[in-house]
Amino acid sequence: MKFYQEPARKIPIIEEVDVLIVGGGPAGFSAAINSARVGAKTMLVELAGQVGGMATTGLMSHWTGATRGGFYEEILDRSQDNNSQHRQIINPEKLKLVLLEMLNEEGVGLRLYTMFVDVIMEGNSTVGVVTESKSGREAFMAKVIVDGSGDGDVAAKAGVPFYKGRESDGKMQPMTIMFKVAGVDTNRAILPGSFETTYQLPAGDLQTLGYKHLPYPAGHVLLYRTTLPGVVTCNMTNCIEVDGTKAEDLTKAEYVCRKQIPQIVKFLQDYVPGFERCYVIASAACVGVRETRHFEGEYTLTEQDILEARLFEDWVITGAHFNFDVHGLTGPGLDETGLQKGFPQKSSYTIPYRCLLPKGVDGLLLAGRNISGTHMAHSNFRVMPICANIGQAAGIAAALSVRHGVKPRDLDVGLIQRVLREQGATG
Ligand SMILES: Cc1cc2nc3c(=O)[nH]c(=O)nc-3n(C[C@H](O)[C@H](O)[C@H](O)COP(=O)(O)OP(=O)(O)OC[C@H]3O[C@@H](n4cnc5c(N)ncnc54)[C@H](O)[C@@H]3O)c2cc1C
Repeated sequence: MKFYQEPARKIPIIEEVDVLIVGGGPAGFSAAINSARVGAKTMLVELAGQVGGMATTGLMSHWTGATRGGFYEEILDRSQDNNSQHRQIINPEKLKLVLLEMLNEEGVGLRLYTMFVDVIMEGNSTVGVVTESKSGREAFMAKVIVDGSGDGDVAAKAGVPFYKGRESDGKMQPMTIMFKVAGVDTNRAILPGSFETTYQLPAGDLQTLGYKHLPYPAGHVLLYRTTLPGVVTCNMTNCIEVDGTKAEDLTKAEYVCRKQIPQIVKFLQDYVPGFERCYVIASAACVGVRETRHFEGEYTLTEQDILEARLFEDWVITGAHFNFDVHGLTGPGLDETGLQKGFPQKSSYTIPYRCLLPKGVDGLLLAGRNISGTHMAHSNFRVMPICANIGQAAGIAAALSVRHGVKPRDLDVGLIQRVLREQGATG
């Protein structure tokens, strides 16, 4: 490989804040609001042209799984459509505006269209970030940084140890471009919401038909009601064996998934009742990445912790509940390790503060799907309600660390829990 030696250069420091959040998905957004509410001067830097991450940019159908109380409920209260009987269904157009309004109300500094590209370190502590945007290469300094980038871009640059994907072979969950079709007769439409849901149709079993007729590695039928009449969200495109931390793989996935969309629509028209006259009206602005890096944290959440519904003394997320949502790592459908409808966990679980604390690096908190957890545990906590409440805890912890002048790892977790309790959480 040839190399180009980049010359050193001075770049402007645009802001010096208490707490800086990279990535405005469910986790990063929630961290920003909650940091500001605890009184920290807070700034959010986001690559896309809107906040919300997968919930908006990713054109997501609905908030899945549950948490007991917490900030996620406030997002639902503010963003749900009046005409929807289903609280968890997302109207992304409404959500995009509501999230911006909430940031504005709390006085959070916001920079959209701005990509984190490097971290500024003093010893083993993060003290700022370098970004690239239309405005050029810039620096933002912060006492505490929250990594809400999904992939953990900040933590990776800061040198936090990580591995990618499944422990045994490094394979990661597949990527998907979500899209919406209109013209659906929703009175007749069948909407299988899990891989394990199927229907007997005149032509045969629906999921078997999907496996046979959809363009590989697509091959399953996942359809979701929206808040709009005649409009359904499709979670059916599929690209396997790709790495969301590589631009070349993201480019490949974008093409693979987009090519599948017309063929999926034809399948829906041909085989699925109610979809005979459906047509595409929107697709996500970017391919959705389910899984990439798993970081070493002060604690790594495991599938056993979830199955046993462990109550950690240093809990900062409570009442988390979902299934092991592992999409096929090597083909369509549910992975052989995944469990959706038949999930055995009896009660909800907690996540300890230590999962948000990266090994070996100070001044940094992990938030969202990039907290420390195994491949299987991640398949559960990666859903947006849980990620939003992880963000809430990270934002509170970051702001309290600044207020008390301590590193996040030295913060008394009781102080975070006190704020969470005041906001309705029960340990
Ligand atoms: C196809 C698909 C379907 C899913 N279905 C559901 C579902 O139905 N329900 C559900 O609850 N969950 C679902 N999930 C899971 C869920 O959407 C994600 O796990 C969740 O959004 C993770 O939240 P997050 O805030 O950690 O990351 P994200 O939502 O990914 O947000 C990360 C944000 O960081 C920004 N960012 C990334 N890198 C940088 C950078 N270098 N600089 C600046 N900004 C950056 C991104 O633009 C993004 O806005 C699905 C995921 C996928 C991919």
